[in-house]
Amino acid sequence: MEIQNYKGKNWSARKAGSIYIVSLSNHCNIVEGLTDFVQDQNIQAGEVTGIGAVSEATLRFFNPSTKKYVDKTFKEQMEVTNISGNVSEIEGKALLHLHITLGREDYTALAGHLLEARIQGAAEFVFYPLSTRVVKIKNNEIGINLYDFEQ
Ligand code: FE
Repeated sequence: MEIQNYKGKNWSARKAGSIYIVSLSNHCNIVEGLTDFVQDQNIQAGEVTGIGAVSEATLRFFNPSTKKYVDKTFKEQMEVTNISGNVSEIEGKALLHLHITLGREDYTALAGHLLEARIQGAAEFVFYPLSTRVVKIKNNEIGINLYDFEQ
C-alpha cells in the first residue's frame, strides 16, 4: 500500500492507499480547515468521519415548513463525539456536508448540522474518497441541496 504525507493550511494528513487520516491544528476552524484539505487534495466525493474537542460551535437547524435556517452558536468546551458527513460538488465547488454530535461538561449531547466549530484540543478525521464526482443542486421546493445523478 502506498503511504504519503501531506501538509496544508492548518492541516496535515497521511494517505494510506486511497484513504486519508487528517489532523487539524489547534484553535482553527473545522469546516474551513477540511474545505482547504478537500480542495488541496481534489476530493470530489466521499465520506468523512471525525472526533475531537471544540470551544465553540455553530449549528444550523432547517425548518421545512418555513424553509428557513436557524443558526445557534454554543460557546463552551465540548467533546466532538462524532462528525459524519460527505463531500459533493455544488456550482463547481467542493461542498462538505457535516453533522456533529457534541458532548457537554454535564455529559449531555448537542447535535445538528455543523456550520463551523473552533478546535480546542484536537480534531482527527478519516476521509474515504470515491473516484467519481457527485453534483448537488438546490431544490427550491424543499429548500435544501439534493444529489442530481444526471449531472
Ligand atoms: Fe445537514
